[in-house]
Amino acid sequence: MMVNKKNQVAVIGAGPAGCAAAIQLKRYGLDVILIDKEKIGGLARNANFIENYLGFPKGISGVEFCYKLEEHLKHLEIETVKDEITNLSWDKSQDQFVANSKKNQYNCKSLVIATGTKPRRLSLKGEEELWKNGLLFYEPAKMLEKLFFNKKIAIIGSGDAAFDYAINLANRENHITIITRTKDYKSLPLLVQRATESKFITIKPNQVIKEFAAKKEKEEVLLIVKTKSKEEIVADFILVAVGRDPNHIPSEVKFDKFVKENRVCFVGDLVNKNERQISISSGQGIRCAMRIAEEILNI
Ligand SMILES: Cc1cc2nc3c(=O)[nH]c(=O)nc-3n(C[C@H](O)[C@H](O)[C@H](O)COP(=O)(O)OP(=O)(O)OC[C@H]3O[C@@H](n4cnc5c(N)ncnc54)[C@H](O)[C@@H]3O)c2cc1C
Repeated sequence: MMVNKKNQVAVIGAGPAGCAAAIQLKRYGLDVILIDKEKIGGLARNANFIENYLGFPKGISGVEFCYKLEEHLKHLEIETVKDEITNLSWDKSQDQFVANSKKNQYNCKSLVIATGTKPRRLSLKGEEELWKNGLLFYEPAKMLEKLFFNKKIAIIGSGDAAFDYAINLANRENHITIITRTKDYKSLPLLVQRATESKFITIKPNQVIKEFAAKKEKEEVLLIVKTKSKEEIVADFILVAVGRDPNHIPSEVKFDKFVKENRVCFVGDLVNKNERQISISSGQGIRCAMRIAEEILNI
């Protein structure tokens, strides 16, 4: 059944940026709806341990942090919807934005777009097929839902995410091989040190991946990461963490004018190139909510 909803403000994306915006908008008494295609919390769900967010002196796991966000939204009775927005348009006659999903239509006067990032693919032979078969992943959250234990996992990448994912999965006694292109890891040295100290993690530098393959051995599927130097790394699962790109929703709306008028805001990792942090995203969410509220309420 098609739902046609009308709110003053629609926030798309319930990661830290969108949650912060929705919370601040609600504090102004505005009628806000928060839409996300996945669970509340966004990318932070994948973080092993968040140690730099104020108010948590002993740190907090990504999953727990997401529960806190959910609790905060519930406490303030913020309307949340699980839905994927596939297109944005502008209805001139009604002076409103329209966010469409496959089934529903959300109409609003102002719009916060906090859709974060999407994982970069390597686009190598075998990659898509393994991904479709649930053997290759781009984020660990879905793997952790299935309670992976004692598995061989090959992680490709050398940034913060690759090392953080490795430490996260090694905590469950999985055997991790981090495969990197060079020896110059892009990750925070602290994470590299923790990975190096773990007996469950091996780092294999200077490897350029050529393709992925799978073979069946006694009812078991084994994955093979083939490198250009003819190495073959065998694993039960593969996790690709080679960077993330902005995740824009298709739209023909010329947003510049509306951004200047404080009716539309793009916030969070979506617009932050190298400075992707929860505090930065949530700060941007709060600031954009203040600007939108000033505009709507004329304060
Ligand atoms: C492994 C790892 C560890 C990290 N550790 C830390 C840390 O310790 N400290 C720190 O500050 N930061 C950390 N970060 C970074 C932090 O997670 C991000 O900066 C933060 O989550 C960005 O928030 P955001 O709201 O901008 O975007 P996101 O968290 O990416 O949220 C975007 C949301 O939009 C939704 N969405 C996207 N498209 C649509 C659509 N079309 N329709 C509906 N919904 C949509 C997505 O489902 C998602 O929930 C870490 C990141 C990773 C990967």
